[in-house]
Amino acid sequence: MRLTEHDGKRLLALAGIRVPDGGWARDPDGVRRLAGSLRGAVAVKLQDPAPSRLKRGWVRRCIDARAAGEAASAILREGGSPSLGFRVERWREPEREFYAAVVSDPAARAPVLLFGAQGGRGVEEGAGVLRRVLSIRRGPAPEDLRACVAAADLSGRAADSLGKLLSSLWSVYRSHGAVLVEVNPLGLCGGDLVALDARVELDPDAREGAARFEPEVPADEDPLERVAGEIDRHDHRGVAHFLRVDWPSAARAGRTPIGLHCVGTGVSLTCMDELARHGFLPINFADTSGNPTASKICRVVRVIFAQESMAGYFFMTCVSSQQLAHTARGIAKAFLEMFPGSSGRPDRPCLFCFRGAWDEEAQGILRAHGVVGANVRVLGRESSERAAADAFAELFRGRTAAPFPPAHPLQEADLHEDRPGIVRFDVLSGGVISIDTEACVRCTSYACLRACRSPSDEPVLAVEGGRARLRITPEEARRGGCVECLACVLDCRLEGRDAIRVRLPLSAEGA
Ligand code: SF4
Ligand code: SF4
Repeated sequence: MRLTEHDGKRLLALAGIRVPDGGWARDPDGVRRLAGSLRGAVAVKLQDPAPSRLKRGWVRRCIDARAAGEAASAILREGGSPSLGFRVERWREPEREFYAAVVSDPAARAPVLLFGAQGGRGVEEGAGVLRRVLSIRRGPAPEDLRACVAAADLSGRAADSLGKLLSSLWSVYRSHGAVLVEVNPLGLCGGDLVALDARVELDPDAREGAARFEPEVPADEDPLERVAGEIDRHDHRGVAHFLRVDWPSAARAGRTPIGLHCVGTGVSLTCMDELARHGFLPINFADTSGNPTASKICRVVRVIFAQESMAGYFFMTCVSSQQLAHTARGIAKAFLEMFPGSSGRPDRPCLFCFRGAWDEEAQGILRAHGVVGANVRVLGRESSERAAADAFAELFRGRTAAPFPPAHPLQEADLHEDRPGIVRFDVLSGGVISIDTEACVRCTSYACLRACRSPSDEPVLAVEGGRARLRITPEEARRGGCVECLACVLDCRLEGRDAIRVRLPLSAEGA
């Protein structure tokens, strides 16, 4: 996670590194007010992480508050993104500039301290930068710090400050699980060393055990990636990795954009190659492996279909030990929610290829629940990635290109209204299941019971007096006793009285 300059400087300041006085403002009015409180000349910096922001004039020196507000307005007029706001800080004119960083070096498999006696753009790639490989346990040794001070040609108070500052950079890197902490330029201003710019990247996988830090500037994340991230974070069972692929327009030209969904990362790469042969362009990467729940799969499918300009959907598994019946139930539930008018049959070409454990059952589930129609091909373990891509291309034969079918908004399904006879319980992912037991009275199949059977555990549901009920306690269900396989929901719809609803969180806040 890359922090904005503003949040990077907040982190440095917490570690005792001097930064120019300043703050963050959302819009030009806020910039004007903040600049007024600082008095004198200020720097107005759009918090865009692109390295080109200096070249594009998105960092400006302004002599007073009025000029600062006008500069912010001009930056937005000239194409600066308004979503990240501005850092406004007192202008500092350095007598000298240095470069300092602690960075994870994959080649050295260790953190590296970098120090340059000159700062500025491109200096980090220059030959004059001192490079010291550090121990991940101990950080910079006294001789590393002495070498940097000697390279800087500083003495007295400034030399002491540089040693302390480099140690503080290390402590930010280590305690916050960073992969990069960079100050460029590090200015010598009136005898003090001041971080005039900051780049900090935290490793999201190092969140556990890392010191907490709440960024003040809202992250400029893709909303669908954010929702998918929350889905994954709030349910440890299996993975849900989803990324949008931002193809340049030259790559998009003449190609058919599709949604890609795989079980296994390796198979995704092979599929991308095979799909490219037919002129398809995956607009996302999605991997749901590690045996996720059906409810997790359902939500990831909803995220994939919430993308604009998606002409088709391609799903393929590696030869997997994952319980593919659960995977298929998640897909079927998502399709029933998205295409209620056609009882789950999709509005665009879709290919499903199940290979591995429970693969035949998985194919049967899609057929039984009505997902399979003219637009759809279902393949099994006999199919290679190439054969699947060929079959997918066949579904497009004779079709005219865009306009694309609409994106399906991330709308959560309705539950029954609260009234006597409704049984509700929460599940681990944050979802809720509700059963209309008034409908159960007319049921003869008790399909929910068969669906909820489990070879090793007792079922979660029971039927008593002709009505379904929770056999375990609501707390046990919420802690994962209900494995969210969705079999009761689907089978009750097919063979019972369609008495079970499930609402699964689909917003970043609700997940
Ligand atoms: S299958 Fe549906 S309608 Fe029948 S008992 Fe179960 S929940 Fe009730
Ligand atoms: S109640 Fe049973 S069948 Fe229904 S989702 Fe939970 S574990 Fe699956």
